[in-house]
Amino acid sequence: MDIIDKLKEKYNYSEELCVFLEKAIPAILSYYGEDKLDLLEKTLLDTEIHLQEKNEKTKDYLNEYFDTDKEWKIPTIATAFQHREIFEEDNTYHSKSIIYVRKTNINEEIDLENKNTQSIIIHEICHAIKTKNELEEKNGLIVNKTGLCEEKYYIDETGEIKESGEDKLGLEEALNTHAEEKIMSIMNNEDYKTNTYSHLLEALDYLLEDKELEKLFIEGQFTDSTEWIDYLGDDYNKIVDGFDSILSVYYLPTSIIINKEKRQEAIAKRDQDKQELIDIAKKRNKEKSISEMIDSNEETKTNHKEL
Ligand SMILES: [Zn+2]
Repeated sequence: MDIIDKLKEKYNYSEELCVFLEKAIPAILSYYGEDKLDLLEKTLLDTEIHLQEKNEKTKDYLNEYFDTDKEWKIPTIATAFQHREIFEEDNTYHSKSIIYVRKTNINEEIDLENKNTQSIIIHEICHAIKTKNELEEKNGLIVNKTGLCEEKYYIDETGEIKESGEDKLGLEEALNTHAEEKIMSIMNNEDYKTNTYSHLLEALDYLLEDKELEKLFIEGQFTDSTEWIDYLGDDYNKIVDGFDSILSVYYLPTSIIINKEKRQEAIAKRDQDKQELIDIAKKRNKEKSISEMIDSNEETKTNHKEL
């Protein structure tokens, strides 16, 4: 594959990583569509996939890659993450990404044949291809769209770019993890179940029974299309908030985790949110199938008339 040669030349990728990408690229395209080929190649060329090396400090590597000198808030539970650094150039804001894969054991090499390692890299590539490099300014904030999620930044008094929260991250993580499972299954030719975000996936499964909605979600992830929002109608806020709320339980602050009562409260709330999402999805699917039945009856009637 041409792209593999280019990546090898640009980032000096190992043979193992090239073999992995050779399998991953067709599987990603098979899930998201062949029309994403150029986008996927461009993303891979702009985003290094870096496997942590022996004795390498994550902070030092990131500072060198992004030409910065700062303290990093490295996510503690993830073994891989995609980081986007926002910078200004010619009066417009851009982002540059990296996919950083951490060692789980400092004495062992990262094993690219390990399914768990493969799936976390696929997950991060899926985020990366949906990340826009050109940023928009909206209501005084800089907005970086990654799939359905909008990450917001502001400029502080010293001129530094600071994070200001994100919208719709829960739904985006759910969809991204669903894509990760599908792509892994295609790539390895066997059904794959990931071990992350299972509560998000449980709720999402019911929504995705509606294939039209799944199509609109994917369109919204790659473009500015808001058709999925219109399609969800009155359920939109409940669905977006529900997924955000479930996601937040994966990132509880330590003060809550160590407090048994508060922890149980958070878990109970998560299960309640999940059930509410499932109920909404079931209701939507039922209404859809009834209206489809009416439509097909109408069609049969019309056909009879024509006969
Ligand atoms: Zn993610």
